[in-house]
Amino acid sequence: MQFENVSSDSQSSTPKTSPASQASQTPLMKQYWEIKSTCPDAILFFRLGDFYEMFFDDAVKAAPILGIALTSRDKNAQNPVPLCGVPFHSSQSYVAKLLDAGLKVAICEQVEDASQSKGIVKREIIKVITPGLRTDEEGLAPMAQNFVLSLCVRTLPNELHEYTLGCLDYASGSIEVMTRNHIEDLMDEIDRINPVEILVFDHTDDAQWIERYAPERMSNVHQIPQWVFSQAKEEIKKHLNVMDLGMLGLDHIPHALESCAALYHYVGVENQASLAHLQLPKQHRDQRYMVLDHHTIEHLELLDRGAKSENSLFSILNQTKTSMGARRLKQWMVRPLCEREPIEQRYDAIEILIQERELRKELRVHLAHVFDVERILSRLSSKNASLRDLISLLESLQRASQIKQQLAHLPKTFFAGIEDLLDPLPALQDLLQQSLNLESDFSKHSYLIKDGYHAELDRWRNIAKGNRNWILELEQKQRKETGISSLKVGYNKVFGYYLEVTNTHRDKIPAHYIRKQTLANAERFVTPELKEKELEIENSKQEMEKLEMQLFQELRQNVSMEKDKLQTLADHLAQLDAMVSLAQVCADYAYVRPVIQDGDDLILDQGRHPVVERSLALTEPFVPNSVHFTSHGKRMILLTGPNMAGKSTVMRQVGLIVIMAQMGCFVPAEQLKFSLVDRVFTRIGASDDLAKGRSTFMMEMSEAAYILHHATPKSLILLDELGRGTSTYDGLSIAWAIMEHLDQKICAKTIFATHYHELTSLAQQSDTIENMRMTIQEWEGKIVFLRKLEMGSIQKSYGIEVARLAGMETSITQRAQQILKGLEKTSSTTSLGDLPPLSAEPEMLQPTPMEMWVDQLDPDQMSPKQALDRLYELKKIRNSSKN
Ligand code: ATP
Repeated sequence: MQFENVSSDSQSSTPKTSPASQASQTPLMKQYWEIKSTCPDAILFFRLGDFYEMFFDDAVKAAPILGIALTSRDKNAQNPVPLCGVPFHSSQSYVAKLLDAGLKVAICEQVEDASQSKGIVKREIIKVITPGLRTDEEGLAPMAQNFVLSLCVRTLPNELHEYTLGCLDYASGSIEVMTRNHIEDLMDEIDRINPVEILVFDHTDDAQWIERYAPERMSNVHQIPQWVFSQAKEEIKKHLNVMDLGMLGLDHIPHALESCAALYHYVGVENQASLAHLQLPKQHRDQRYMVLDHHTIEHLELLDRGAKSENSLFSILNQTKTSMGARRLKQWMVRPLCEREPIEQRYDAIEILIQERELRKELRVHLAHVFDVERILSRLSSKNASLRDLISLLESLQRASQIKQQLAHLPKTFFAGIEDLLDPLPALQDLLQQSLNLESDFSKHSYLIKDGYHAELDRWRNIAKGNRNWILELEQKQRKETGISSLKVGYNKVFGYYLEVTNTHRDKIPAHYIRKQTLANAERFVTPELKEKELEIENSKQEMEKLEMQLFQELRQNVSMEKDKLQTLADHLAQLDAMVSLAQVCADYAYVRPVIQDGDDLILDQGRHPVVERSLALTEPFVPNSVHFTSHGKRMILLTGPNMAGKSTVMRQVGLIVIMAQMGCFVPAEQLKFSLVDRVFTRIGASDDLAKGRSTFMMEMSEAAYILHHATPKSLILLDELGRGTSTYDGLSIAWAIMEHLDQKICAKTIFATHYHELTSLAQQSDTIENMRMTIQEWEGKIVFLRKLEMGSIQKSYGIEVARLAGMETSITQRAQQILKGLEKTSSTTSLGDLPPLSAEPEMLQPTPMEMWVDQLDPDQMSPKQALDRLYELKKIRNSSKN
């Protein structure tokens, strides 16, 4: 093996820590510096024969960490080159030591055979390993997880911030995105994740948050260039090789894509590490809660949309008495629970509240007098809380005392926490009671502080009162002295106090009156005596107001000091209100307590749609339906039925009932026995998002891709009309492939409603798919919707009949019938039952001549002789196709 001469550098005058005089360097050292300049922040493992050598600063830094001797090849030179080296065959353990020390290592290899090369051997960096991008190979302990975090901060109005974090676990390839709204939460999250590297964009001052709140992490912060930020979307599309990023479900998280782009850039571009094993980024989920994406929240109409509130689940469940309770209920709805114990606790609470009717009634009365303590607290912290706020707070505390007493009698389940922590702060109540002017009419002149609370304030008030009396007396006195019975004392902001005399009495005006203002039919005067009093009045008024405001601020301060306790109180009152609201609805509408089981079953008997069953527009009684998913039997329902038969309703009701059950509410059904699901996914109805460049079909596919990307065997998936936005064959094929994937790969509980009747043949291929249909009756050529779900499938959609019911002109529906008949006759619809299994190569779904021939047969219209003839013909076709 040929070795290059490193020691020849000993003659160089290269300074210890920099390339300096390139001209005086050997070709090898020139090459070293060229390579080193591409990774200045990494320790360069420079391959020389059987060693990786480190030079200059790298050697000085690495030698003590690696426990190896720091030497120099040119000890006698003026500026000796520090050097240390490790054998290449045991380099991994040395790399690991440097990574453990938080350093980055660049591996530079000889990329051509030294014996073949003329002159200097070609070298290249083949790998950069950072502490965050290490894998088992670089000594990552089996149980260890090293995270790289990217941080993007968004400034909101009112000096608020939103912090988006992208979190990469390079060894496993997972990327999760999350947001936090408070700096404390951000720092908690950073502490929890304990990243070994943090990325920020260089055009922002996002690093300041780390510098200020976690300065010890500053040495791990790396800057990512601005262009990555501005081209984030395009870069990720390029990397994932897709046109649309909707399937990531990150659209609603500000800067989510930018923080992912920073991670991709750091891995792939800056460190030339592999991106291939990285999974698609996902929103981080807290295992305690079910994630509901915004499509599902919208599709299932969980919350009110603007003024249109009567169709949401919230509008049915919301019987809260406070805004805090209503907000809490919404939170419960969009964040159902995934842990059995807290769900059972809510069930227990509802059960008790249903039984204790009187108590429920009384609690509702008290809650109706509880104000929005959370909002009052926020006004308190911004020093905007008014007298009305403090009185409202006092009233809420008084109600809380009564509520606490009532809860004390209840069994210690859900209520134990509430009752124990419901501290109505009696001392604060006393203070507010004694100090606030509870009789206030809240007008501008009304007092804030009660008489008798503060002696000095009372004194000033008495002075003010005395002054008022003095003015009244002055009026009387002047009337008497001047003989002007209509003389009156008035006040305005410009002139202060004045004596007003109408023009009729002009001749009686005393000489010492000083004219101030002339009106159309009167004149206004002052006297020195009045001016002097005015000054006194102004002074005392100012003193009084100043003192009153000071006392009020002190009160606000006192209340603010109890902020934490008040927040806890507000939190518990909100929980209680939401709980009582649920209990009220459960009692009113005869909901039943679900039974949570282990395993994977979901047995829903006689379930009802909580919103549709209450709809005033319903012209017939609601028909309950049962749906069973079992771990040993069927886990996918393929639902067919005519238009308007109730497919969407039954599907949505399953989703809503599961969400209700996991938010801790009873459900509209005869029975629900189920195992907890981790997510509910829906794809229902056609919509587009033109602003984001997604057509209806693109939207449909992007939602479907999102579901396939996120669903697990523990999920519940509701798909309505998938594949309708494109041509029949394309749509059918996509729907077919997605069903197979859901059934065989994801294994989630799924309801798939469709008008593609061809799909029903899938049930014959799979033991886990069940065909179910919405029943109808045909009567005198018309259809009657029975709304009942039963086993089996239908092969007709009755779309034209539904169009007729919708008021479409008869001439059109008749013509449509004619066209339909013609199409059915010449139909080239293929039976898809024979399609190859999922693993096989897809084939074009073109009907064969034989299938076309079979389609034309009508056995009901044939004589036995004709049937035999057809059989011979069939044999002939078959033979000809063989040749
Ligand atoms: P399409 O295929 O046209 O979308 P669909 O089969 O999904 O129709 P739905 O939208 O679920 O039908 O139901 C249509 C209407 O039928 C609902 O708006 C509701 O008024 C009524 N309906 C549905 N299910 C029931 C039921 N179980 N009991 C009573 N009425 C029902």
